[in-house]
Amino acid sequence: MSRVDVLSERLIEFVARLASRMSYDQRKLAVISGSSMYKIVCKVVTRVSDYISENRDGLFWCRLCNKGTFTKRGFYLHLVRVHSFEIKSLIEEELRRELRAL
Ligand SMILES: [Zn+2]
Repeated sequence: MSRVDVLSERLIEFVARLASRMSYDQRKLAVISGSSMYKIVCKVVTRVSDYISENRDGLFWCRLCNKGTFTKRGFYLHLVRVHSFEIKSLIEEELRRELRAL
């Protein structure tokens, strides 16, 4: 498995947390990313989480399957249980795009 593949897998949880506005461990994210990748990872994780979620008045809709509304926790669980693979693919795609642009 490539570095991007491994990294993408580990970032799914962070994207799901960010998309559902749950707190996440920033230091852990930095460790997973490594110092050279941290900036890119933050950008990618934010971009993907914005892309997959719609938030209005504290309620969430899923842009990957148009389901809603979810509470914070419900949305997080929905993303992790139903869309892990899609989220990973999106992260991978964005990471590769960013790395190519370097
Ligand atoms: Zn969904």
